[in-house]
Amino acid sequence: MVRASRGMAVANALRLLPAELFARLDRPGPHGSAAEVRTLPAAVRRFLRHPRPPVLLGCVGALAAVRAARGPWRARDVGVAGAAVAAQPFVEWSVHRLLLHARPGSRLGAVGYQLAGYGHEQHHRDPTSLDTMFLRPREVITGTAIAAVPALLGPAWAATGTLCAGLGVLAYDWTHFLLHTRVPPRSAYYRRLWRGHRLHHYRNDQYWLGVTSPLGDLALGTNPARDAVPLSSLAHGAERI
Ligand SMILES: [Zn+2]
Ligand SMILES: [Zn+2]
Repeated sequence: MVRASRGMAVANALRLLPAELFARLDRPGPHGSAAEVRTLPAAVRRFLRHPRPPVLLGCVGALAAVRAARGPWRARDVGVAGAAVAAQPFVEWSVHRLLLHARPGSRLGAVGYQLAGYGHEQHHRDPTSLDTMFLRPREVITGTAIAAVPALLGPAWAATGTLCAGLGVLAYDWTHFLLHTRVPPRSAYYRRLWRGHRLHHYRNDQYWLGVTSPLGDLALGTNPARDAVPLSSLAHGAERI
């Protein structure tokens, strides 16, 4: 009897552990607004001081350590890294279109909405809020734990692939934050990303889905002229363009 109740207590503790860990890592806000950030050094500081991005940095660091432990880089690793760079615009486009903008009209849509669509909808309702800006520790840690399995048990190039995926996610999270700050665009490439993301938020959320690259939009027909598409329901606020 005592042993059984002790077993139950251990099982409950194990069940609660991830929830408590996620709650501690994901301290509730308010965390302020990206619109308060006007320079690149201030953006870096804000990124590092927010509770969420350091979790992602730690997870990418862990994937880098796993890859380092798997031995030297070979030609196949370079091929995997090249494929990851080439895939990034299309992965980003697909995740944004199919998962982040999933709506509960169908069974699949309802699952996507619960997983990520609801959170992204909150970001669209208040685009500069740092409470809903970054990827949550819950998803980041769960994704890293899943990615660690092939990275540790598969061939070394699988560890390269998971590291590249982690770096791609980090590039997305950082760039997306930067696009919502008031740091002025300096290069033509960044200005293009900046304009595209503003159109996504303030013109029509079904278009301009790229964050780190416009390639997905150019290849998949979601880069229309601004006035060729109507204002969408999520495009609201004084900053409509
Ligand atoms: Zn955004
Ligand atoms: Zn969106």
